[in-house]
Amino acid sequence: MRPIFFTAVFKNLWLWFPLCVVMIAGYFSIQPLAYYGKEVIGFTLMTLAATSITSLFYRTALAKGIAIASYLLLAFFAFVKLSFYLQYGVGISASALFVIFETNAGEASDYLSNYFNTTTIFLAILLLVPLFWLLKAKRKRKIERTPNKIQTIFRAALLIGIAFISVFLIRKYFRTQNIPYATISTFKEYKIAKQQLKDKLAQPTSPAFTEVTSQADPQTYVVVIGESTSSWHLQLYGYGRETNPKLTTIKNDLLVMDNVISPHVHTITAVEKILTLADSENSKPSVNGSIIQLANQAGFTTYWISNQKPVGLYESIPTILGSAAQHTRFLATDDYNYQIYDEAVLPVLDELLQEETHAKKIIFIHLIGTHLRYEKRYPETFNMFKDNPPHLKFQHKKAIEQTNLYDNAVRYNDSIMYEIIQRLDQQKERSYLAYFADHGDEVYDTMDFLGHNEYHGTAPMFEVPMIFWFSEAYKKPSDSLWATYNKRKYSLEHFPHTFAQLSGIGFRGFDASKSILDSSFVDRPRIVKDTVDYDKR
Ligand SMILES: [Zn+2]
Repeated sequence: MRPIFFTAVFKNLWLWFPLCVVMIAGYFSIQPLAYYGKEVIGFTLMTLAATSITSLFYRTALAKGIAIASYLLLAFFAFVKLSFYLQYGVGISASALFVIFETNAGEASDYLSNYFNTTTIFLAILLLVPLFWLLKAKRKRKIERTPNKIQTIFRAALLIGIAFISVFLIRKYFRTQNIPYATISTFKEYKIAKQQLKDKLAQPTSPAFTEVTSQADPQTYVVVIGESTSSWHLQLYGYGRETNPKLTTIKNDLLVMDNVISPHVHTITAVEKILTLADSENSKPSVNGSIIQLANQAGFTTYWISNQKPVGLYESIPTILGSAAQHTRFLATDDYNYQIYDEAVLPVLDELLQEETHAKKIIFIHLIGTHLRYEKRYPETFNMFKDNPPHLKFQHKKAIEQTNLYDNAVRYNDSIMYEIIQRLDQQKERSYLAYFADHGDEVYDTMDFLGHNEYHGTAPMFEVPMIFWFSEAYKKPSDSLWATYNKRKYSLEHFPHTFAQLSGIGFRGFDASKSILDSSFVDRPRIVKDTVDYDKR
């Protein structure tokens, strides 16, 4: 009986290969040592469970298939774990998984587009090597004696016991290290969080807003939510290229806020804080409400125009928030990998502006902006920048190429913003336009990296444009007063208060000191990633 048990385990010895890779590669990439130890023990237990289960099927017809499946799973988890450590210097976390689940927001593609480099490709190949050998291997004719019934049962009990104990230990001590376990539990959390958001924020009104006041006269307001646009690449913010030729011509009519950041660098987490009362002090308020709901309650007709694909695996958070509007238009049906131009919003805007003139309206526009892949964000006529970008820190082909594509996209965005303002201007109504981006992108500005993720969380990922335009009829304090506010340090997580002030909406809990344009504005710590003081990091 003994030899047979060991033969079964021995036959599946190559299942321990991914663990060896984790041990060796992990030794160089996982710090501190305690983390490394936990990762290794956690992976050992998972390997033990997989080997036991695989050995159960020894001598059955299913043996080879199960062995290969077990190996693939272990190799896959080893790859994900190690490549995450190699790329970001930390283990894969619940928040990373959360973003990955939100695949329709296209954020996962950013992870993936930056995932493959020489090291990770080598790792993948290395982990696949035993598989080729295994697929070719033929099982030898039975040479061992056939075990009797008792021996078979005993062996099965032993293997099941080992698997059971391993899983028990993983559940008890190594939950966070175990990718399958962490994924399942995070996914459950994610679904609950999503459902709660839907129940609360997809409704036209919210109990978060009481004693709502607003003026009755005609007003037309537009809030534009940009995408992946860093203030580092805007001419209006001092960038050394003509990326804002159009807005520059009306520069004197704009209020350009110089020092604004987003509380997160991913759309889903950032937009939730920017458009709702949730902020880093109170990230999960029991009663939360969005500015779309507030606008509804203040008697405005509300519109949500989106140029981002609304539904993927699950509805994205911006879609949930937008669906509180009385009228929604989703213009894009493809994801980020396809050509999507923001000019698609202009005819819709024309139509909405003509609808019921002299009424109270607020139009929210969610652009595709300058989201990766940059070359798919603008028509050929905007393929403008081809030479070496100014002050490029990383002088390699990809950096030059991507910076040029990004700057083209920023320049196209400039023309869209200009067109929107022109349309509002022609209305001759009491209007404002508020524009900001949900977060920025690192485009080789401070590190050799493209895109955005919170592990790196570089300045260009957090620092975003925030620009206002006001119509002649919009009654604002003397130009000189608001113009002096442009150096204020602001985090967009307090945007609901700026929004309420600008729209002349009052509500219980409105805090003028959180509005960037109020005289009582208070400079407060700007918290990013829930707990980090941006200005002290
Ligand atoms: Zn985004």
